[in-house]
Amino acid sequence: MPEHNLHHPVTAKILSLFEDRGDSQYGGEAVTQREHALQAACLAQQADASPALIVAALLHDLGHLLHGLPQDAPAQGIDDVHEELAARWLKKFFAMEVVAPVQLHVAAKRYLSRDVNYRRRLSAPSEHSLLLQGGPMSDAEAAEFEAQPHFDAAVQLRTWDDAAKIAGLQTPPVTHFAGYIDRVLQESDSCR
Ligand code: FE
Repeated sequence: MPEHNLHHPVTAKILSLFEDRGDSQYGGEAVTQREHALQAACLAQQADASPALIVAALLHDLGHLLHGLPQDAPAQGIDDVHEELAARWLKKFFAMEVVAPVQLHVAAKRYLSRDVNYRRRLSAPSEHSLLLQGGPMSDAEAAEFEAQPHFDAAVQLRTWDDAAKIAGLQTPPVTHFAGYIDRVLQESDSCR
């Protein structure tokens, strides 16, 4: 029996999305979508994050695996709004502890970019997409963002996202995280 069949059907779908599309380049960076997702999830795991936040870290850029736009869309001046696409898909199956940090990970970059030291450390492609995404937040936007119930999780996820761009870094495979996805799905199933 293929390993995917041992998992929740949504986990199996996610594994196959990574299998089919995970080799695509992560928008102008030196890592693939799969490497980026795995590095982000490992950082979350190392930080002892909750299973929901580890899953959110793994899936934060799932939108890039769902849309049909070229992976260099930002270089062509297109904001692919991948965070909304991912959130719409994830909402069908996962609790907000997973969905919200994913949905807010671009807003978190706009929030953190108010700090010039943070902004200076952004990679060139990330700085480029920041401008397409609206640039740093205004004071009013930042105050509203801080009041979001999932503010802390979104900012944490963002710091892992920014660090998950190391070429050649060894990580476990996507299947390592499949148990976390199953567990989080079962928890949200039981609350419906
Ligand atoms: Fe990312």
